[in-house]
Amino acid sequence: MKEKFNISGKNLSEESKESTSDFISGRVMVGAEKIEGEYEKEPMEIDFIEKINLAFEKEFEEMQIDNDKEITPNQIHILNDQLYKENFGDSDGVDVCFDESIFINKEKIIEQYNNPRVKYLKVLLHEMVHSQAYKKVHSNFDKEINHNQITTKRLGYRVENSEELNHVHFLGFNEAITEKITSEMEGKYFEDILEELGFSEDEMFEVKCGSSMAPAYQNQVDIINIIIEKIAKTKNEDEQVVWQRIKKGYFTGDMMHLRDVEKACGKGSLRMLAAIDSGMKDLPRTENIRYKMYRQIKEYFESDDNEHKDKLARSVLIEREKMKYDDRKK
Ligand SMILES: [Zn+2]
Repeated sequence: MKEKFNISGKNLSEESKESTSDFISGRVMVGAEKIEGEYEKEPMEIDFIEKINLAFEKEFEEMQIDNDKEITPNQIHILNDQLYKENFGDSDGVDVCFDESIFINKEKIIEQYNNPRVKYLKVLLHEMVHSQAYKKVHSNFDKEINHNQITTKRLGYRVENSEELNHVHFLGFNEAITEKITSEMEGKYFEDILEELGFSEDEMFEVKCGSSMAPAYQNQVDIINIIIEKIAKTKNEDEQVVWQRIKKGYFTGDMMHLRDVEKACGKGSLRMLAAIDSGMKDLPRTENIRYKMYRQIKEYFESDDNEHKDKLARSVLIEREKMKYDDRKK
């Protein structure tokens, strides 16, 4: 298997680097092992995973990215509702970064959604996109315990502060990009794939009519679309060009182009973008508050009135991020 992880760390010796690499390889091996109670994968599911691997191959070729990572069916674990919730809580699916493994709550998806089989494959694809994202771990030799403390540093655009627990940047941005890539691939490949897998006309209907299925992370995606539009205007580029650059960075780790956000949306706007879902006040509390927050963030990126923007930032950001936002303005 090709080593996909990049490793960073202060004064990291060759030896430490190697042991970190060994540690991750061990985790990846464990991540591909069956867990007790998981569903046996159906031939259709294995077929789908293989077809998505081929689709990724095409994508990487188009983007001129050197990546031959394949996600094997063993790395994907299909669970019932109870087993999933015990381990991962109330989501549809999750990508476990270290282990390169994916878990899906199939039972929940099948019960909760219209057109559940298509939705299920869409969730599977979303998690496979996460799994293909740029990944970097931070390794720090800890004298007291005499081994390396290894933490996730980057996953796609998501950045974790290795010194401070739960200090994450670009969480919502990363999900929005993951979902945009998922929708794009769905548009490009799903019709053919689902036909080959023998899906019925009814099931195919929404897919054929374009992506009518409500995407996940709609608010975050809306915000990113506003930003892309603004960057395109500022740089006098096609929106598709801007999007392709952002998409490529998700897989290569390049974040330099995010400086375009500051140029297009004003000083401090990158701080605001980084805070979506991880530096916002009153986070998951209630749908109403969340909705208001997202509306304010949209307004922030749409507005050219600096005073109004600062007011919105102050209303949305938690203290830690607000201080940095204000620093930035000086
Ligand atoms: Zn996701």
